[in-house]
Amino acid sequence: MLAQRTLKSITTAVGVGLHSGQRVELTLRPAQPDTGIVFRRVDLPEPVDIPVTAQSVSDTRMASTIANGAAKVHTVEHLMSACAGLGIDNLYVDISAEEVPILDGSAASFVFLLQSAGIELQRAPRRFIRVTQPVEVREGEGANLKWARLAPYHGFKLSFEIEFHHPAVDSTGQRVEFDMSSDSYARDIARARTFGFTKDVEMMRANGLALGGGLDNAIVMDDYKVLNSDGLRYDDEFVKHKILDAMGDLYIVGKPLLAAYSAFRSGHAMNNQLLRELLAHPECYEIVSFDDERKAPKGFAQPLRAW
Ligand SMILES: [Zn+2]
Repeated sequence: MLAQRTLKSITTAVGVGLHSGQRVELTLRPAQPDTGIVFRRVDLPEPVDIPVTAQSVSDTRMASTIANGAAKVHTVEHLMSACAGLGIDNLYVDISAEEVPILDGSAASFVFLLQSAGIELQRAPRRFIRVTQPVEVREGEGANLKWARLAPYHGFKLSFEIEFHHPAVDSTGQRVEFDMSSDSYARDIARARTFGFTKDVEMMRANGLALGGGLDNAIVMDDYKVLNSDGLRYDDEFVKHKILDAMGDLYIVGKPLLAAYSAFRSGHAMNNQLLRELLAHPECYEIVSFDDERKAPKGFAQPLRAW
C-alpha cells in the first residue's frame, strides 16, 4: 500500500513574517492519518485550528492566506510547497502569529526542518486527486493574458512560463518544467527564492506590506540587475520559484494531485481559481489510492530522495 506520511518528531523554527515583519514561532507536529495539514493559531486567547482546504483560502493578493472565521494565516505557500514536495499528508503547524516566517524566501528551510524531524509512514492509504479531464482558467488578452490548466497525467508534473521583461530575467529561463517522477524537488526547486523589485518594495511598504523583506530573504532587483551580492541560486531561479509557489498553492486542495499542471503568468489567485474550478466539476477528477505500490506513479512510490 502507498501510505500516508507524517513527521516522526516535533520540530520548531523562528523567523519573521515577510509582510508583517513580526517575529513568529512555528512548531511542526505529527498528526493522525486523514488529519491533513492543519494550522493552529496558538497565540489567540483560545487556539483556533485552520484546516487547509481550497475553501479556506481567503485572500491571494500577495500570498496565499487561509482563514477559519476571523483567524488567519498568511503566506502558507512555501511551507505547503515543501509538504507537497516531500509528500507530507498529515501535519499540525502551530504558529504564534498570523504569518508563516519567510526564512530565506524559499522552501529550503522547510525541507530541512521536515527532513530533520524524519518522515513516518502511516497505516492508511495515501489518497490522490486524479484529474480525468482537462480543467482550465483564463483571464485577459494580449499582454494581459494569463492562464492555468490541469490535464490528466499518471504522475505530477508542472510547466510554468513567465514573461518578465527585465535584463536579469531575460538572460535566464522564462520557462521551466518539473516532473516529480524524474526530478528532485529538494535539489531542483526548493531553493528558489521569492523575488521583487526595489520600486515595488517601496510601494508595498507604504501599504504596510513586505516589512520583513530584504536581501536575506528575496532576490531583489532594480531596473537593471540583481542586487544580492551572491547572485542567483539557479540560472532560472525566477521561474523555478513560480513552480515552487504553484506546488504550494495546488497542495492547498488537501490531497496530492495526479495531473499535469501548466501555466502562463499565473499566480496565487489564479492557482486557487483553478482548484475551485476543478472541485466544481466532479466529472473531471476521481479520488484514488494504490494498494499495490508498484502501480503508483514513479516518484511517489520510491523512497524520498535526499539532497
Ligand atoms: Zn513564493
